[in-house]
Amino acid sequence: MEVRQCDFCRMPYQSVGKKICSDCLQKLDEDFIVIREYLYDHDGAGIEEVSEATGVTRKTILHLLKEERLLVGDENGNGCGILTCESCRKPIRTGRMCANCKKEVLTAIQQSVSAVKPPKQSRREILEEESIRGVAKLQLKK
Ligand SMILES: [Zn+2]
Ligand SMILES: [Zn+2]
Repeated sequence: MEVRQCDFCRMPYQSVGKKICSDCLQKLDEDFIVIREYLYDHDGAGIEEVSEATGVTRKTILHLLKEERLLVGDENGNGCGILTCESCRKPIRTGRMCANCKKEVLTAIQQSVSAVKPPKQSRREILEEESIRGVAKLQLKK
């Protein structure tokens, strides 16, 4: 066991390989479920509205966005301004990097590990994967 600083609450904790302490992990899971429930009935709710209605802090919502458990903005990725790619600074809807930069990083990793390319994922498979992971869609108010 190693003592680390929790990525979320910044408190030291005994790490078992995760970046977040178990208290925060549990709280984030609970908050995520609350937000997902709210978004079922309020499709297109903005971050402020969700935060006020659910009592989940903006910080938590942003964290869930970066963990790719929530999406923000419309299909064109316009008007978000909430998230930007950490590599090229393009606006993104979820996670830390845009699709292009992610692909480049993945390609670089794959090339260093092996030359075999994985089979291309169909859009359907990607969607199924997302639903398994439980991505909820958070829209920004226009
Ligand atoms: Zn914590
Ligand atoms: Zn990028």
